[in-house]
Amino acid sequence: MELSMMNDMHLEIEGMDSCHPSGVPSESVVGGQQELHSLLNVRHPYGVPSSPVGTQDIKQADSSPAFTHSDTPLIIAGPCSVESEEQIIATAQALAQIPEVKMLRGGIWKPRTRPDAFEGRGEQGLVWLREAKRATGLPTATEVATPEHVELALKYDVDALWIGARTVVNPFSVQQLADALRGVDIPVYIKNPVSPDLNLWLGAFERFQKAGVKQLAAVHRGFAYYKETPYRNYPMWEIPIELTQRLNVPLITDVSHICGNREMLQATAQKALDLATDGLMIECHINPEAALTDARQQITPEELKSLLASLTFRSKQSCDVERDLAGLRGEIDDIDSELLQLLARRMAVSAQIGEYKKSNNVAVVQMDRWKKILADHVATGADLGLSPILINKVFEAIHQASIERQGCIMDDNKG
Ligand code: PEP
Ligand code: MN
Repeated sequence: MELSMMNDMHLEIEGMDSCHPSGVPSESVVGGQQELHSLLNVRHPYGVPSSPVGTQDIKQADSSPAFTHSDTPLIIAGPCSVESEEQIIATAQALAQIPEVKMLRGGIWKPRTRPDAFEGRGEQGLVWLREAKRATGLPTATEVATPEHVELALKYDVDALWIGARTVVNPFSVQQLADALRGVDIPVYIKNPVSPDLNLWLGAFERFQKAGVKQLAAVHRGFAYYKETPYRNYPMWEIPIELTQRLNVPLITDVSHICGNREMLQATAQKALDLATDGLMIECHINPEAALTDARQQITPEELKSLLASLTFRSKQSCDVERDLAGLRGEIDDIDSELLQLLARRMAVSAQIGEYKKSNNVAVVQMDRWKKILADHVATGADLGLSPILINKVFEAIHQASIERQGCIMDDNKG
């Protein structure tokens, strides 16, 4: 399918300074023209053996101007849903006044958790979205979940497509979309699946890559989590970081769906920038309170302007350091959490032993057995490169806590 708009579309991105003191480039430093195509191009084609970002990648990015070429994150803003002609045009016109905003998003088909909620305007919404593009010059992006959506989005000159989190969980749907986009040169942004499943996310990239889709980017929108958290979708930053280390595709952070509220947007966007995100997706509505979907997380274009002005854009190099560190810290957090689970399990078994000793009238502390265990642990620890001091300290503390727990069980018995 021909996308005539793609070649005509020009966007100002060169000369934006990622270290601008106010955090956002002023209009005076925005100059030059770059085609949308190059703006959205991937850092280097997916399929190159995965390796951490290095000189090779930078060289490739230089030879083919990439998504991240200017060091300035791509800002995609717009309503959760296209609701009416007035709403999308008024929102788009206000967003077009913000120089950093490079793309207008708007949901046309809305996947809803429960039936009977607003499910998007469908084809009519595409007419309005195209009108908003015509009125502002902003390229547009929307979510597609079926081959029919793809066909319609292309018919109405949508410039970029994203695959939603609920679709990425289903390989059949992803394959159908990849097949529908075979031979179409359009940027496709793949959101993370709802569940924290890196392989499912990687698999979606593979399906599009095999279909020959070249302009791929990842969208991090957080993950469903088994515990209550302040976020609507828990970020688990280490997962998108690992994805970009494995695939080296640009990463856009959808802070709106991560936060689920307005209050946390700024801090979350800053965190994403500190981790070298290549773009931000932020839901904006001309009247957020009246929004038909995701009213709590949308902000006005005016609020977006202040938010962008409050952000500190860092140099790519320092962000890459942060991103690598965050990946490792995430791993430490996971290990600590496993250690805690193991400690709790150990204490539970220790309590069972306490009960047994109580009913069989056995002394709590059996020093000879403990000394032997500790000596064995010190020897195993040495094999693993762990110092005897560490092993002694850790296991003495654990043993002491066990004795105390068993002592309590004995005392309960007396009572
Ligand atoms: C959206 O972007 O409006 C949306 C539905 O997002 P997600 O697929 O991340 O839930
Ligand atoms: Mn939304």
